[in-house]
Amino acid sequence: MEALVPALAIYGNASSIHQAGQAAKQKLEQARREVAGLLGCEPKEVVFTGSGTEADNLAILGALRASSAPRKHLITATIEHPGVLKACTQAEREGVEVTRLAVGASGVVDPGDVRRALRPETVLVSIMHANNELGTVQPLGEIAAITREAGVLLHSDGVQAAGKIAVELPDLYAISGHKIQSPKGIGALYVRGGVSLAPVLYGGSQERGLRPGTENVPYAVALGRAAAWCGENLSAEASRLGALRDRLEQGVLSRIDGAKVNCAGSPRLPNTSNIQFSGINGEPLLIALDLRGFAVSSGSACSSGAVEPSHVLTAIGLSRDEARGCLRFSLGRGHTAEQVDALVEALAESVAQLRRIAPAAAHG
Ligand code: PLP
Repeated sequence: MEALVPALAIYGNASSIHQAGQAAKQKLEQARREVAGLLGCEPKEVVFTGSGTEADNLAILGALRASSAPRKHLITATIEHPGVLKACTQAEREGVEVTRLAVGASGVVDPGDVRRALRPETVLVSIMHANNELGTVQPLGEIAAITREAGVLLHSDGVQAAGKIAVELPDLYAISGHKIQSPKGIGALYVRGGVSLAPVLYGGSQERGLRPGTENVPYAVALGRAAAWCGENLSAEASRLGALRDRLEQGVLSRIDGAKVNCAGSPRLPNTSNIQFSGINGEPLLIALDLRGFAVSSGSACSSGAVEPSHVLTAIGLSRDEARGCLRFSLGRGHTAEQVDALVEALAESVAQLRRIAPAAAHG
């Protein structure tokens, strides 16, 4: 809000050559430097987009469409966000062969699987940096070594990881504003110098022609400020959030029978915890917590009235019922130990109440 509200008064269009336009352009370029600072790249390697989804689509479809290879193959993973999964499905419709790597109970892609899936016609590998439901951090460095050696491009959806853990950039890396406390509806794609991409939108020459459309300068300014804050506070905030996450998990495990932290032994983001409550349906638990003032996520999609269990939780081997009993907790800037303790209390009470209402399900 500190950065965004004054920036809303920027009147000029960053593509205009008059003074008002140039003032807007300066703000946009300052924001680009700040995002580049967080990612550790050159400002000219940052392309602003309208969302993380758009950045993922641009990376995947853009890299594939820019390749003139007669046969094209793409490798991704089953636990990716729909912004990646559905872009890969679209690529498939355009004739690209797609390998979707399974993950085991760890929720982590095995770099050996990436190596084994490579083919002479592989153009791109797209593996997320951190999973949005489980928080599991993928071995991006090891995967990058494999793709580099094979001369294949590597894209990573960094939406959940950027600003929370350090990144060693692959060739393409997507971020999104609202995961680092800037507004929803702004994202960016890092495009390594020399990587050729085709645009997925057609229009003006903004963002080097890669993302036509007048830039949203106020949102870029807010993203830049948030990126700068995250860069300055990365390690302190990671330890603070990691301690709160551990406090939450220990509190839940000691107070609630049958609770289990998913992928607890895997490398994870410091702020994300996915917990399974046996015999409980996540939706009523989510609502019970909401009534007590806590906003959590069930990670399941409600389509045509039926609650489908999360594709990520079933991908790590949970049954549909187990997956339905999971909730994701995300901690962020401003959260305190007192709030975490109150959440543990609210969870213990809500779970006990739901188990009293439906005791059969609780033991079934
Ligand atoms: N990728 C991941 C891992 C996400 O968690 C999200 C958003 O939740 C996205 C992509 C999409 O970002 P956006 O909502 O900005 O399109």
